[in-house]
Amino acid sequence: MRTRVGATTDIGQVREGNEDAILINDPLYAVADGMGGHRGGEVASNLALQTVEQMFAERQGTLTEQVERANRAVFERSQSDRDVSGMGTTLTAALIEGGAVRLAHVGDSRAYLFRGGKLQLLTEDHTLVHRMVVEGEITETEAENHPHRSVLTRALGVEGNVRVDETKVEVQEGDRLLLCTDGLTGMLSEDHIESILQDVRDPQEAVDRLVSEANRAGGIDNITAVIIDFTEDGRIDGSGTKEVSQPRSPTTQHPTPTMAPPPRAGGDVTTWSSPPTTRRQPAPKAARPPTARKLLVGIVIVLAIAALGFVGVRLYLDSQWFVGVSNGRVAIFRGVPAEVAGLEMNSVVVETSIRAGDTEELAVWGDRLPDGITVDDRDLAEDVVEQIRTDIERARQNAS
Ligand code: MN
Repeated sequence: MRTRVGATTDIGQVREGNEDAILINDPLYAVADGMGGHRGGEVASNLALQTVEQMFAERQGTLTEQVERANRAVFERSQSDRDVSGMGTTLTAALIEGGAVRLAHVGDSRAYLFRGGKLQLLTEDHTLVHRMVVEGEITETEAENHPHRSVLTRALGVEGNVRVDETKVEVQEGDRLLLCTDGLTGMLSEDHIESILQDVRDPQEAVDRLVSEANRAGGIDNITAVIIDFTEDGRIDGSGTKEVSQPRSPTTQHPTPTMAPPPRAGGDVTTWSSPPTTRRQPAPKAARPPTARKLLVGIVIVLAIAALGFVGVRLYLDSQWFVGVSNGRVAIFRGVPAEVAGLEMNSVVVETSIRAGDTEELAVWGDRLPDGITVDDRDLAEDVVEQIRTDIERARQNAS
């Protein structure tokens, strides 16, 4: 079987940088969606894909082991470099092995199989809302529009070890495999994606169309899509995309990975390998919606952030900390100070001896504590607790 490939990543309409990354090194393909603010997200997604690519080139381990190694690489970098501490990434990788595709997956990027006009999801989102759907707390439709839909329950590089989902899918002629980040699936319904895959035959034109439609729908996140078409041996479609034949021994054709420069300026950074057999056509700039629309999108996002505190920021619950109130005591929590459909998105780590009632008179803490004071890490949480303790004592002394 032969493959034809289309791939593109786009900054979207709102974000200042592109934290998504792509790996195209036939027969290995992957997308990654970084998180962690500032440089963190970009570093995480690129480092993860570079690690997978390098291990693959060196024929080290299975795909899953390569992803596990990528986890350690991102985690170790995050521990040693303060600028990127706490970073993480999703990663969805596909390795074509003859008539099958092996998938390795962590996070909420997705792989779909398009066959016979139908789109079928091959991966499971590691998100809080997906867990809530599985547990019957909310419906699929509610999950799609949920304000906390970006909250991940599993991500790469956040802890020393990660559980990687692995699946293998048989493919046939005419199948299309789509790898994408949540910037696509958050903007377009599956029906919409399905109809684009049905209508646009050329894989590069199809990914470009997906991205431009996602931008038209608001483009509130970075958008990445890779399409791999499985075609009949030797069939020439006459389209602009080059045919890529599957080598029998996948690794032999691909020596040391090479890094190409980012596809375009403006923070749009991507891991691009350039194997001789795969050609990337630069994505045409997506049609920009009118300024008024952009402004509206901006306002909606600002309101959402104001209302919820963390929409638009990818979160990994276990790496979040805040100081709040538990059983009438000041306490340190892991997670975020919110409840979704009756499910608390946090857990108490330490309940201190400080009575929450004692903070009520304190201008700085009294109002904020009940809502939870979010901090970057546990040390800072301890600092906040110490400060509260000190302020209470000072207030007592002043009163007496
Ligand atoms: Mn994203």
